[in-house]
Amino acid sequence: MLTITNLSKTYPNGVRALRGVSLTIERGLFGLLGPNGAGKSTLMRTLATLQAPDAGQITFDGLDVVAEPERHRRQLGYLPQDFGVYPGISAQLLLDHLAVLKGLTDRKARREQVDTLLEQTNLWAHRKKAVSGFSGGMRQRFGIAQALLGAPRLIIVDEPTAGLDPEERNRFHNLLSEVAENVVVILSTHIVEDVRQLCPRMAILAGGEVLRSGAPATLVAELDGRVWRKTVDKAAVDGYRRRFRVISTQLFEGRTRLHVLHDGLPEAGFAPVEPGLEDVYFSILQTHAAAAEVRHAA
Ligand code: ADP
Repeated sequence: MLTITNLSKTYPNGVRALRGVSLTIERGLFGLLGPNGAGKSTLMRTLATLQAPDAGQITFDGLDVVAEPERHRRQLGYLPQDFGVYPGISAQLLLDHLAVLKGLTDRKARREQVDTLLEQTNLWAHRKKAVSGFSGGMRQRFGIAQALLGAPRLIIVDEPTAGLDPEERNRFHNLLSEVAENVVVILSTHIVEDVRQLCPRMAILAGGEVLRSGAPATLVAELDGRVWRKTVDKAAVDGYRRRFRVISTQLFEGRTRLHVLHDGLPEAGFAPVEPGLEDVYFSILQTHAAAAEVRHAA
């Protein structure tokens, strides 16, 4: 189990990237959902011991991660947002090389693990090809293969599906959920759909703060009967925004489809909709933004 307590980080330029983040994360896939700039990568890098927090604690199965980064790294797999690869080196060789860096010194055992991972990530047929020439999806699968070297018990995956086509994304999702059966996997993303499809537990992060955490289904159920839809002309949208809590707008056949949060029918012409995780996400972000505006004005 991973326990994060009151984690804070302010960068030298004054940006407060984490403001007292506390989370408890158990085995399986955990989705960390937030817009750009929320602090997700800062949190991921801190959990990967690539940077230190200003304050707060992290423990993983009892180990003090901040105090003992070396020991923590041995049980950690990390897939960063962009990882560089050496041009021209085959997948098999590169993975073997990374395995050496990870401390797998026994040649035979290392070879076995490299080959198993190439098979598990569906890259066996491409093992002789240069990773630098891989498609986005193959690269991400290679990224997971390298993150799994040394059988880590905590795996951190930062924004993995950006730029993948639907089929590649699907494959990547399947691979992640397979991996997560036995270990803690934290998936950071700004894509609601990724979390909805994969994660039994999640947290929403914005402005360096955890706004909500829990099971997606529980958060969605809280909005039952409170989300309403209406399709209006684009010119009318601002008026609706002033009068109602518009949580999202989407173009629909050239007009705008609004989702509004309201206890009871907002007005004639609205129809009830079954809430989804997007409604949860956008309404929570909006409440947070509105509160920040009030604080700012005061
Ligand atoms: P996310 O991954 O959710 O997009 P980040 O953790 O990358 O969020 O960034 C959180 C905030 O911290 C942003 O405002 C970003 O500009 C700032 N930030 C991130 N890294 C640095 C850094 N090394 N120096 C200064 N500011 C940074």
